[in-house]
Order: sequence, then structure tokens, then C-alpha cells
Amino acid sequence: MTDLDLSLDAAALTVVLCDIESVSGNEGPLADAVEAALRSLPHLSVDRDGDTVVARTALGRAERVVLAGHLDTVPLGDNLPCRVEDGRIHGCGTTDMKSGVAVALRVAALLPSPNRDVTYVFYDHEEVEAEKNGLGRVARNNPHWLAGDFAVLMEPTGATVEGGCQGTLRADVVLRGHRSHSARSWMGSNAVHAAGEVLTRLAGHRADEVEIDGLVYREGLNAVGITGGVAGNVIPDECRVTVNYRFAPSKSEEEAAAVVRRVLDGYRVEVSDTAPGALPGLSHPSAAAFVEMVGREPQPKFGWTDVSRFSALGVPAVNYGPGDPSVAHQREEYCDIAPILECEQKMLGWLGA
Ligand SMILES: [Zn+2]
Repeated sequence: MTDLDLSLDAAALTVVLCDIESVSGNEGPLADAVEAALRSLPHLSVDRDGDTVVARTALGRAERVVLAGHLDTVPLGDNLPCRVEDGRIHGCGTTDMKSGVAVALRVAALLPSPNRDVTYVFYDHEEVEAEKNGLGRVARNNPHWLAGDFAVLMEPTGATVEGGCQGTLRADVVLRGHRSHSARSWMGSNAVHAAGEVLTRLAGHRADEVEIDGLVYREGLNAVGITGGVAGNVIPDECRVTVNYRFAPSKSEEEAAAVVRRVLDGYRVEVSDTAPGALPGLSHPSAAAFVEMVGREPQPKFGWTDVSRFSALGVPAVNYGPGDPSVAHQREEYCDIAPILECEQKMLGWLGA
């Protein structure tokens, strides 16, 4: 097992963490190393569930903060071990999100007596199906491990605070026709042609922009797939248009479904899958203080992230981490050293002051 040297700065530690490959499902060796490093710190009590490691201070402070990050990465793109060049670390997991994990580990090691109690959560299976997600599993098995007044999910945000996250809904619009031989098409009714009006409505729909806590969430309602057709000589009797709606976190899943049904009034809409958004909660005093400390204009998070799991547990949460989200999951993934050290300094200052 690799010994993690937590006296390395967060950038050097990022390299060590990335070089322990941990593609989803293979987090074991990295979780072992993280667990051993945290167990060597006498000010923390450590628990483990599968490949999720949770460590806590218990100082009786007035407030408890949760710092969380996933240990897994997407599959390698021939991009390990890491390469450091011109102030930049190249490799799988650098931005998403072992640089964030490194910052949290440094806070854990350097602050035996933080000004708020801190819970550190390092979890497995974030980059795969939601049902495998380690944070979700802990929320089901041991929700008290995740208790806190405020959570920072150290996903890549370019070292600015991204508040909340948008919800997502997927639905099929089902169009029915009547099958016939294409040589006698007048005897049938073409379900694929019927999709034309659905696509026209979607293309003409103006998605909402919703302002919450000063952040503007830009929604999107789009066709993301279409299937239909039986054979080259048959008038098709069914066509499905798959629609994805990214909705502002002020809407519930039910309200989001109602929007889709209203836009597609008159059509059969089958909702297949939804996940709620999370409100930014930036008006919460600890979140407001955090934004102030970071000192950059907060931004809305357009994608779906695990902040919504904290939100569902009643813990306001924001995204904040050193990586650039736009290079996540790419073969060319990298993270600049400067924002890693900046995040490390800011987190140490915030919790150590
Ligand atoms: Zn991530």
C-alpha cells in the first residue's frame, strides 16, 4: 500500500493521489491509503463503508462543516502516471477531482483544532450509475455520518463557488400511427412524420432563466434522441422522441414534469427518470461567509452534482474546487498548480483562523 505523505503540499499530493489508479470499482487501494493516513491523525475518528472513508473532529464547536470528494475517476485515456510541466499537472483525475481531495486531506492533516468541527468524506463510485454512488449509500446506511450545517463538495469549479445544481428529467414523447405497406401509404398513418410538430415545438420553446440568490440558472429543454421505423417498405406506427429537461433548482421534479407536459400538450409524455436540483442556499450564513472568504463572484452550477444529496439531507452545500470543469473526463485532463495551492491556502485560512 502507498503511504500518503500529508506533509506534501496539495499540488504534490495531487500527483501521488492520481498515480494510485482508482477507476470506478477499483477505489480499494486508494481508499486504503486514505484511511491509513487519516487513522494516523489522532484528532480524527475514522469510519469506513465499502470504499468510502469518513473522518471527523469532535471538538464541540458551534458549527460542523462537511468537506467531500469522490475518490474514483473515469477510465484512463493512456494518461497516467501524471506529468508535471510548466505549472500544470496532466493526468486522469487531476481536475476531477483528486486536486480537491488533496486539498481536503491537507486541511485534515494540518488543522488538529479547526474553528468549526469538520467531517471529511471521501467516497467511491461517483462516475457511474447513481445507485452505486458511495455518498448515496452512506446517506442510506449511516446518514448521521453526513450531518452538518454546511457542506463543500470539492468538485472542479475553477476555484470559484458554484452554488446548487440544476435538476434533470428525461422523458419519451410517444407518437402512434398506423402501419401499412409504403406502396399504399394512404392506408397508414406515419408516426415519424408526427414527430415533426413535436420537434417544432421543442425548437421554438424558450427555456426559462431563473434567478435564485443572485445566480441565474439557465434551463434547457431539448430533444436528445429519436427512434422510429420498422423497415424500408413499411409506414412506421411508432416514433419516440427522447427529451431532456435541465431545470432550475427552485422547481420540484413534479413541477418540471408539468412544464414538459405543458409544452407538449396533446402528446403522450412518459417520464423515465428524474433527479432533483439543489438550491444554492447562498443566503445561509455559513455559505455567505464562505463565498466572502473565497472572494470571487459565485456562479450557478448547470450540471447535476452530489450537492443535491446533501441538500436532500437538509445540509446546504456548494461546489468549490481547484480544477477546471471543462477538461474533466478528457484524455487531455489537467489541473494547474496555482489554483490548487490557492484553494489549499483559502481552506486552511477559513477553518484555521
Ligand atoms: Zn467529479
